Amino acid sequence: RRPRRFTTTEFVEGILRGDTSILSQAVTLVESSRHEHQQQAQEIIERCLPHTGHSVRIGITGVPGAGKSTSIDVFGMHVLKRGHKLAVLAIDPSSERSKGSILGDKTRMEALAREKNAFIRPSPTAGSLGGVARKTRETIILCEAAGFDTVFVETVGVGQSETAVHSMVDFFLLIQLAGTGDELQGIKRGIMEMADGIVINKADGDNIRRAEMAAGHFRNALHLFPPTESGWFPKVLTYSGYYGLGIDEVWAMIDEYIAFTKQNGYFDRKRNRQAKYWMYESIHDMLRDAFYRHPGIEERLPIVEQQVLHNEISSFVAAKEMMDIFLKGTTKN
Ligand code: GDP
Repeated sequence: RRPRRFTTTEFVEGILRGDTSILSQAVTLVESSRHEHQQQAQEIIERCLPHTGHSVRIGITGVPGAGKSTSIDVFGMHVLKRGHKLAVLAIDPSSERSKGSILGDKTRMEALAREKNAFIRPSPTAGSLGGVARKTRETIILCEAAGFDTVFVETVGVGQSETAVHSMVDFFLLIQLAGTGDELQGIKRGIMEMADGIVINKADGDNIRRAEMAAGHFRNALHLFPPTESGWFPKVLTYSGYYGLGIDEVWAMIDEYIAFTKQNGYFDRKRNRQAKYWMYESIHDMLRDAFYRHPGIEERLPIVEQQVLHNEISSFVAAKEMMDIFLKGTTKN
């Protein structure tokens, strides 16, 4: 038998009480594409909003195999030991991993998965990056309302998703590995520029020296970058997620950054700017949605597309015709 669905008030009260089962169901509503679910989700979010904003949000990225899962597990335990409540979210728009990721995430973070003060939620399944990112951002709001004062947002460092994560966190941590001397190869400059801290994982055993060398390379490279707007100089540290070495230092760096940016006002400025960014992202999402769902557009678009393909009309004229249909249907007279 399917459980009865909660009213909006029941959802909000449950979330504010810190009931993770209700929180989890609310996140499911956020992730649903059904109209009535979306509507209720928005009501819940709006009522949760006054209770949010007090967490520290940390983005964590790195290529597959860099040690994200291992590291998040130990970083997370470190955070919990200091009396915090932690939510671990992810952005991964590639449908492939999302399918099996509920189980995957539980086994990926073994220690955290057993902790009642940790809430682990895999990436929303498939959809456009923008859509997935919006859902994750809304999930952050719900988690904060439920009392989670530390939020990790993980992403696989292979695509556009870093930018999305960067736009919703306070601190952006890039996990790297010591390579074969060509450390900087294959790392997009843009990603390095986003990082507030670069940490070289697997600095253990025979690998310590190589990790230190890699750290040196990164430090040199960072010196060539223009100064950051925050006034913070990104740090490069080595650690071992697997053996739990250097974790205190990584966390001291993040604490220092938060204190530094809160003091100079950058922390709040960045959050304000992110709020503005997400407003425009939402507008663009909604416009696109409304456009493609417009009955007149749905009917006419395939025909016009063919005309463009056959060089019968220009792309611009076709676009203009579509906009006229759209605007006629959405404005009075
Ligand atoms: P992810 O794909 O980024 O989530 O990486 P995982 O956390 O799954 O780690 C990939 C592999 O590297 C696993 O076999 C881990 O056991 C191993 N690993 C992770 N962290 C360390 C570390 O600090 N030292 C060593 N030696 N191995 C590690």
